[in-house]
Amino acid sequence: MASPLASPHDTPDPDFADLLAQRPHLRAHVLDGLVMDDVPLVNIAREAGTPTWVYSAATLRRRHAALRDALREAGLAASIHFAAKANDSLAVLRVLGDEGAGADVVSEGELRAARAAGIPASRIVFSGVGKSAREIALALEEGILQINAESAEEVERIAEVAAATGREAPVTLRINPDVDARTHAKISTGLAENKFGIAYGDAAALYARMASLPGIRPTGLAVHIGSQITEGMAAYRAAYARVADLARALLARGLPIERLDCGGGLGIPYRDEIAPTPAALAGAIRATLGPLGLPVMLEPGRWIAGPAGVLLASVVLQKRGQNRRFVVLDAAMNDLVRPAMYEAWHGILPLAPDALHAPLAPADVVGPVCETGDTFARGRALPDLPPGALVAFLDAGAYGATMSSTYNARPLAAEVLVDGHRWAVTRPRQSHEALLANQVVPDWLGAAA
Ligand SMILES: *Cc1c(COP(=O)(O)O)cnc(C)c1O
Repeated sequence: MASPLASPHDTPDPDFADLLAQRPHLRAHVLDGLVMDDVPLVNIAREAGTPTWVYSAATLRRRHAALRDALREAGLAASIHFAAKANDSLAVLRVLGDEGAGADVVSEGELRAARAAGIPASRIVFSGVGKSAREIALALEEGILQINAESAEEVERIAEVAAATGREAPVTLRINPDVDARTHAKISTGLAENKFGIAYGDAAALYARMASLPGIRPTGLAVHIGSQITEGMAAYRAAYARVADLARALLARGLPIERLDCGGGLGIPYRDEIAPTPAALAGAIRATLGPLGLPVMLEPGRWIAGPAGVLLASVVLQKRGQNRRFVVLDAAMNDLVRPAMYEAWHGILPLAPDALHAPLAPADVVGPVCETGDTFARGRALPDLPPGALVAFLDAGAYGATMSSTYNARPLAAEVLVDGHRWAVTRPRQSHEALLANQVVPDWLGAAA
């Protein structure tokens, strides 16, 4: 095949049947086309319009349970804290909270979202490299499970806020283990050069300092080395082994440790990546941290929510360029930024029953935003997709809607939850009025000409 038309990958793209076989919540129905659980996605696109994010409640529950069961079968006392930055939809957080999940939050907004969805503060972890005094105060006021501190400066700040509010702060120290998660540079977090965590060599002294501060209750150690980790368990094992060594040293000095936080990062197959299983992760935790006999925590985001969501879009037009077919959608990089930001590959399936079996030809799938980076796929084998045809981006349930913007003054897309045969709009499409509503033109600019 001529190179400008070919996919940039050196292995063939998975075909529609391969993509569906890996995703049990999606199937191709002869009359209804692409169906999520018991709901034809065409119905949702027709009634809610496009672009629209659609999440499968059953898939969220199933994946949360798979992680929980793998940890249990490894003999670990473990709790799961869903990383809300992957998906902060209140409906999604409610589904997971009802399953017993806690949350990992990185801002006041996410803390409020988790609480609004009914997740008790006693199951919420506050992570992040730059928590403000206001955020710390709110977390303590809510009675948060733990704050993961990322620097000596932050520990002092937490102690000050605790003293000022008369509360005790449960603080876990996030260690930077200096291991290479071998993921995309923009989502690698466990290298010494990254901004995250306390340098390993400084951690013991800081932990002892925490124990001496009156407002602080040291609760343990945390590590999170990056996201979309697919290259086996070696990086996880290396990071957890360093945490285990440090924990042993601290315990030997008589310092208290209540639990160990194993972070998130478990990858998923977007294209044909061989992603590690929950059992492999649980095994790595047991082998390294298990002998300490302490409860462990997991902060998965992408692994739970990624496969549970799709982004529905409509074709605006097919543009025949020189040697290329461009499929221009009504979804754009402001909706799903992962391809532009991380060169990410997302499966794209047509929704109509006949289109799932029609002849294929290469196409570049793009959005209408005025950036060349607004390209979802190059040289993708797709059927003829006339104006109005519908498609679904797969695995869009994590770092999809949460990373959206209104770039090009495009309103935020709608969100929908599917639960069995039921579905509901959980966030209506933002209106153009709402997009302009909170802006002010100063009086001193005078009246419009
Ligand atoms: C982003 C993040 C997570 C979740 O990462 P995933 O790759 O989505 O599992 C967990 N913990 C922390 C501290 C994070 O920043």
